[in-house]
Formats: sequence, structure tokens, C-alpha cells
Amino acid sequence: MGKVVAIFNQKGGVGKTTTCVSLAAALGAKGKKTLLVDVDPQGNSTSGVGIDKAEIEYSTYDILINKVPARGILVETEFKNLSLLPANMNLAGAELELAEQEERFFSLKKAIAPLVVDFDYIIVDCPPSLGLLSLNALTAADTLIVPLQCEYYALEGLSQLVATVRTVKQHYNEHLELEGVVFTMFDSRLKLNQQVMDEVNQYFPNKAYKTMIPRSVKLAEAPSFGQPIIYYEKYSKPSFAYKKLADEFLKRQ
Ligand code: ATP
Ligand code: MG
Repeated sequence: MGKVVAIFNQKGGVGKTTTCVSLAAALGAKGKKTLLVDVDPQGNSTSGVGIDKAEIEYSTYDILINKVPARGILVETEFKNLSLLPANMNLAGAELELAEQEERFFSLKKAIAPLVVDFDYIIVDCPPSLGLLSLNALTAADTLIVPLQCEYYALEGLSQLVATVRTVKQHYNEHLELEGVVFTMFDSRLKLNQQVMDEVNQYFPNKAYKTMIPRSVKLAEAPSFGQPIIYYEKYSKPSFAYKKLADEFLKRQ
């Protein structure tokens, strides 16, 4: 049975997608059968692994709303052990349509259930919101990883995030656990980062990964080539960082 890991933070632009794509690719490269699930209408994870959003016929919208079997929309990427359930702008309409479904919180869980057995890890990219798509991801997940940008405002919204996770645990998914917190866009020269890290360590004791993802323009470039960083710039600092993060993630299993 594969483990479903949601990469979640309702704050935008904190490195969710970059972490999804990079971690999923690194796990695949280490021999783990990995499925990346794009639940964000922006479809950045989809294009991040080289799949053209405009070209896909079916997306996660169809498994959530039209009940197309997930296996039917599964795409094999060109990267080792890495498959994808793609998304594009169609998914934007799903929030409203899901609201009308009786089992609106469990649609994703149900849809991916037949696939979960075929993979070691299922990594879910969430949109930057607390809407039904994110709630579906958290309900389908065994654990979540929270990416935090190392800046002063990183802590803003953290109490909201914790409250959301608590609500999901209470009502929809009692087994949901925090897998870890990963610091992204880290710049060791800035003292403020250290302060943020200290505070987060108080909030989530022993949950922060030791591996921090450095700020690197390479990570911003890689998506436009449709390649995860570990393939785009194999020997770069952020590539090593995400591979180390994958090691640390695996060690905690
Ligand atoms: P959204 O909430 O919109 O989905 P996100 O949380 O998924 O955003 P990303 O898309 O991963 O965040 O990152 C936001 C931007 O920052 C992107 O342009 C990405 O390429 C860039 N970025 C991510 N991580 C880093 C990093 N460590 N160093 C430099 N740039 C980064
Ligand atoms: Mg994103």
C-alpha cells in the first residue's frame, strides 16, 4: 500500500510545487515507485515534469467530477519511476462542483484508491487555498509535509494551517499526521531566517527536516524546461538538497 503525502500550505508561493516535483523525482530516482498528483488548477506540477497542460485530454478534474477512473488519466513521465495525474485550468471549476457532491471531502481519496496499491509513494500538490481541493488532498493523505519559506511572514497563517489540519483530523481523516516541515528558499546569510526556524521548531518539535532547500535560481529555471531539478542540474546545490531531503524523508518511514 503506497503512502499518500500531501504537500500543503495555504500560503502561495512557498515552494509546494517545487518540493512536490523535486521530492517525487528524487524518490523515483532512488527506486521508489512514485505518483505525483496535481490537485492545483495552476497545473505547475504537471508542466514541471514535462507534460504540456494544454495537451492533456483528461485531468484530475475528470476523476473528481466525471468519475473517470484514475488509471485512465495516468501519464508516464520521462523520468525514472515517476507517474503523474495531471491538472490544468479545468480543475478551477471543480471547487464549486465538488460542493454539490454528497461525498465532497472524499472524492480524491476514492478516486485514487485503486492506484495507491501500485505505488510506494503518492505525492499530492495542493493549491494555495483552504478550499475543497486542499481539503480533499488532506482527507486522502496519510501525512502532510509543510513547506515554509524562511522569511518573517512564514509564520503568518501557521495557526490557520494547524487549525485546518485539526478540523480534517476530527471530521474526515483521523489518521492524518504531520510528516515534516521543510524550509525552502533558505539563505543562511540572513539572520531572520534563523529566528523563523527557531520559532517553527517550537511550534512543531522534531518535525523540521535538517535538510534545508537553498534559494537558487536553478529551481526557478527548471520548470520552464519541464525537468525536475535532479535532472535539470544534477550537480547543483538544490539538486543535492532535494536528494538529501528524500533520504531524510525515507529514514523517517
Ligand atoms: P503556489 O502557492 O502558487 O502553488 P508554490 O507554493 O507551489 O506556489 P512554487 O511554485 O514551488 O511555490 O514556488 C514559487 C516560485 O518560487 C516559483 O517561481 C519557483 O520556481 C520559485 N522557487 C521555489 N523554490 C525556490 C528556491 N528554493 N529558490 C529559488 N526559487 C524558488
Ligand atoms: Mg504550486
